[in-house]
Amino acid sequence: MKLLLVGEYREGKLLDTSAELSGFASAIGADASMFLVGSAEDVPAFSGTLYLADARVYGEYNPEVHKQLLLKAVEEVNPDLVVFIHSSYGWDLAPRVAASLKAALVSEVIALAGSAYVVGCCNAKMHRNVTPSTSMVVITIQAGAFSALTQGGTPSVKTLSTEKVSTTEFVCYEPAEAKDVDLAKAEIVVSAGRGIGKKENIDMIRSLAKAFGGELGGSRPVVDAGWLDHGHQVGSTGQTVAPKLYVACGISGSIQHLAGMKKSGFILAINKDKDAPIGEVADVLVVADVVKFAPALTAKLT
Ligand SMILES: Cc1cc2nc3c(=O)[nH]c(=O)nc-3n(C[C@H](O)[C@H](O)[C@H](O)COP(=O)(O)OP(=O)(O)OC[C@H]3O[C@@H](n4cnc5c(N)ncnc54)[C@H](O)[C@@H]3O)c2cc1C
Repeated sequence: MKLLLVGEYREGKLLDTSAELSGFASAIGADASMFLVGSAEDVPAFSGTLYLADARVYGEYNPEVHKQLLLKAVEEVNPDLVVFIHSSYGWDLAPRVAASLKAALVSEVIALAGSAYVVGCCNAKMHRNVTPSTSMVVITIQAGAFSALTQGGTPSVKTLSTEKVSTTEFVCYEPAEAKDVDLAKAEIVVSAGRGIGKKENIDMIRSLAKAFGGELGGSRPVVDAGWLDHGHQVGSTGQTVAPKLYVACGISGSIQHLAGMKKSGFILAINKDKDAPIGEVADVLVVADVVKFAPALTAKLT
């Protein structure tokens, strides 16, 4: 099987997602080439062929032009599988490329099950195994789902170019407005999950965060329910945090939540279910009712 991995370059830097793409290639056990619109001065540590277009010429993102460049790499490699990260770049470009190639698109892959791709469904409460029927397939993989692998080595670079003239222009990235919380810089983050039960219990977790001298975070259901603003959300569609201490209160540990916090230095989880998936990444899992345990811990700390 031949893979074409799609690397990403943003604000003048190669993103470390190329190591996750290499991790995916290794999990599937296939030969891989990589495509990148980036810079020859900042190439991934990768031992295969890198199809490289210059971001200074083609822009860091331009859907029409990047699609055209990627189709050229596909023509050369003739891959069985084109693999994107499920980022804003990937989820915008992958369907365009799949449509041009008349290839099946499977998005948000979180694991492999034989020749099938595992994707979440029912708000990620369940999994579905998808086996595409086209010969070429385009997929996006969920950030954090496959372990990063730094192969080392220097790629053999093949330069790509296109005459394609675009009708759109990349202007800039605009960071989301930082509100009252900057979780990315916090050394301690205490997050509330659905397991806290009700909106009124947010104050209990806020007090615990304060007792630790940390910031308050939350899982997506807590944000979706309006218990916290989106600025507090940790996970693949929220903020990515790497504090020294992360305290997960009533959080199950879905792949999307883990993508945002698994690089934390020390993870303390409080969950009434001893088998909750958060236990797989937690340094300490306290099996308890968070509604009783959190105030007791706050009292100890203050
Ligand atoms: C495209 C997409 C993007 C997503 N992005 C994100 C994201 O950025 N961030 C995110 O968090 N999620 C995200 N999700 C949602 C994600 O899939 C999960 O649904 C979500 O993370 C679950 O949140 P939770 O752990 O708070 O709730 P649940 O999964 O419902 O878990 C609640 C946990 O609390 C425990 N519990 C219940 N009662 C108690 C109690 N009294 N004491 C102690 N423990 C208790 C339960 O045992 C359970 O483990 C995304 C989903 C999709 C499809």
